[in-house]
Amino acid sequence: MEAAADVRRTAEAPARNWGLWIDGRETPAKSGGRLPAMDPARRQLLAEVSAAEAGDVDAAVAAARRALENSAWSRWSARERGRALRRLAEAIETHRDELAELETRNSGKPIFESGQIDLPMTAAVFDYYAGWADKREGSVIPVSGNQLAYTLPQPAGVVGAITPWNFPLLLAAWKIAPALACGCTVVLKPAEQTPLTALRLAELAQAAGLPDGVLNVIPGWGPSAGAALARHAGVDKIAFTGSTAVGREVMREAAATGKRVSLELGGKSPNLVFADADLEAASRGAFNAIFYGQGEVCAAGSRLLVERRREAELLERLAERARKLQPGDPLHPKTRLGALVSEEQRQRVLGYIAGGREEGARLVCGGAAAQVAGLEQGCFVAPTIFDQVNPQMRIAREEIFGPVLAVTGFADEDEAVQLANASEYGLAAGVWTRDLGRAHRVARALKAGTVWVNTYNQYDPAAPFGGFKASGFGRELGRSALELYTETKCVWVNLDAPKPQG
Ligand code: ADP
Repeated sequence: MEAAADVRRTAEAPARNWGLWIDGRETPAKSGGRLPAMDPARRQLLAEVSAAEAGDVDAAVAAARRALENSAWSRWSARERGRALRRLAEAIETHRDELAELETRNSGKPIFESGQIDLPMTAAVFDYYAGWADKREGSVIPVSGNQLAYTLPQPAGVVGAITPWNFPLLLAAWKIAPALACGCTVVLKPAEQTPLTALRLAELAQAAGLPDGVLNVIPGWGPSAGAALARHAGVDKIAFTGSTAVGREVMREAAATGKRVSLELGGKSPNLVFADADLEAASRGAFNAIFYGQGEVCAAGSRLLVERRREAELLERLAERARKLQPGDPLHPKTRLGALVSEEQRQRVLGYIAGGREEGARLVCGGAAAQVAGLEQGCFVAPTIFDQVNPQMRIAREEIFGPVLAVTGFADEDEAVQLANASEYGLAAGVWTRDLGRAHRVARALKAGTVWVNTYNQYDPAAPFGGFKASGFGRELGRSALELYTETKCVWVNLDAPKPQG
């Protein structure tokens, strides 16, 4: 009863419209353009947000450049930068409920996910990189000759960050935190669907003492604001997370000025269950791998590969769990499956489900839009499982970004690895087995940036994350991300004694 009261209390949309955040203040877009921030569970307008275009991108990049080269920020010691990042981590913790509610309203994800997972992880990422700020050291290189050679790690410069709608605040943090730790300044273009938490983050960063222009947030449409940022001559580095097609477009735009690029792109991650696995744990793991976050997760375990001997048994356990998973109001604390981010996305997912049927996969459960009482207009889809999926089918090859699992059987380890790697993507993979040798052998053979053994969806600010093949390049998180935001300078000093004068 109490939980229901909570939902009612928070069901009023926050009445606030938002501008761009440039140079430490809220600014309307020059053209006056706006984009709608929707609540996809209610299909209601949450807020109107200024939409940046090329002129606004220019202003944001200029502010970031000034902050980089001629501001308090450029004179701060690394330790001072670290302290500011830690204050921001604390502010995120303090505003956790408010940010989680904003994230849930704007993205449709359950408040359990935004409040208990995304927000603590966002704060943890800032906290982790706060620690790195004063621990980046150069080295002295043993060169030949009477020379001293040493390296200076320096900021890569103005960073353009472009982020998607599935983890709006967390994925922004993956870029902003290491960039700031390294002394860069940032212009962030959040996804047009979900700009609100990033704008709020900018305000918190200001309150935490980040100088003006260090973090600028410019919501806008991808092909205008995003492309203008990617091609901007004043941007030194682009960090992008999104679809593979747009990632390639961003790379083309960035090529015009030869700027550095890192891309975290799509996935079609295989989850391999061998017959010797703990099937109860594997079914729970396979369930979370695809249905966590409504399947709108780039590393979702969307292809379940199962050793045939135990396929029926695993499928039965999995289907039982999936049938119990009812979509619900994202604001309700007990909800574990929320709304998809938009009606457009729901139609895309339903299109894939129709395609799976037409191509002859067997529908085990779900397979349709879902209704939630009181939210009849919401963008909900029932958890869906197909088996007898042939690897050629579109549901086995293409990223769906929804709660749709494709199950395929395999005969032995060789076939499992071959099926797993027969994808253009290579973001993540799971392996379920009790055989230690097999676990490590398969982990080594899989072409994926992350392999989870007898678990799935584990993340930590210290563990690198990124893709092989069409899933992108560059590793975010961990020590690796520092390299994305650092220019290494090598300084040579002649050690010869000066010749006596005269
Ligand atoms: P998703 O499939 O997750 O929506 P997208 O790749 O479409 O991912 O979008 C990810 C981000 O890329 C968003 O911020 C979007 O606005 C931006 N974007 C889309 N098109 C372009 C483009 N042509 N150039 C730069 N950014 C873009």
